[in-house]
Amino acid sequence: MNTTLSLYNISKNFYTHHGKIAVFNSLSADFYQGVSYALTGPSGSGKSTLLHILAGIEVPCLGKVAYKGKNIALLKNKDRYSFLQNDIGMIFQTPFLVPELTVLENVLFKDLIIQYPSAEKIKKGLALLAELQLEDKAHTFPHLLSGGQAQRVALGRALYNKPTFLLADEPLAHLDRTNQQSILAMLKRSQLEWGMGIILSSHTEEIIQSMDNIYTLGSGY
Ligand code: ADP
Ligand code: MG
Repeated sequence: MNTTLSLYNISKNFYTHHGKIAVFNSLSADFYQGVSYALTGPSGSGKSTLLHILAGIEVPCLGKVAYKGKNIALLKNKDRYSFLQNDIGMIFQTPFLVPELTVLENVLFKDLIIQYPSAEKIKKGLALLAELQLEDKAHTFPHLLSGGQAQRVALGRALYNKPTFLLADEPLAHLDRTNQQSILAMLKRSQLEWGMGIILSSHTEEIIQSMDNIYTLGSGY
């Protein structure tokens, strides 16, 4: 059976000075490895919250998230670390690059936090940057990048460890159409090459339609 990332009866509310915001009420869904999913729905419908919950960064009020059948909230530190390090690649709505690190070092980040990457890994990072058409930016710092370039670096960082699932929050939003097409093609290649599952939020109809499944939030989920 394919590896799954599953939501069981997730409820999520935020409590603010202005009162309670109910985002999800008893939402269940299964996401399979090797399959792509678009999350769509109006701004405020919970796309980012859902991606954060799937990564274990945001905790649901009720219900559970299971990876390969195991509740991610109950993972031991070592397994939780491995889940984030090896199984999940996350792209946030804003790139969150580390400003003190070069573009290449940002891509190598998951290895860099353990030890300085070997020559072989640096080569791998440079090859990924070439695929993202950013090889000439490898030794540049993030503040010198355009929004679209920064977003592509964040994508490189998320794909670097060949994650089982890519969780991507509007990853193509700051890109022109040519770049969108080449990044989409790259995601499709990753899906085929190592069976990566893709869960991607988007407002762009063409991108949404290119995914295998579509979930529309704010419509009863
Ligand atoms: P989307 O990504 O679809 O635009 P979000 O997941 O960002 O939607 O937000 C869903 C709802 O939850 C919105 O009403 C938003 O204001 C609210 N929300 C999100 N994060 C927080 C938070 N940390 N605190 C309070 N409200 C939040
Ligand atoms: Mg969002």
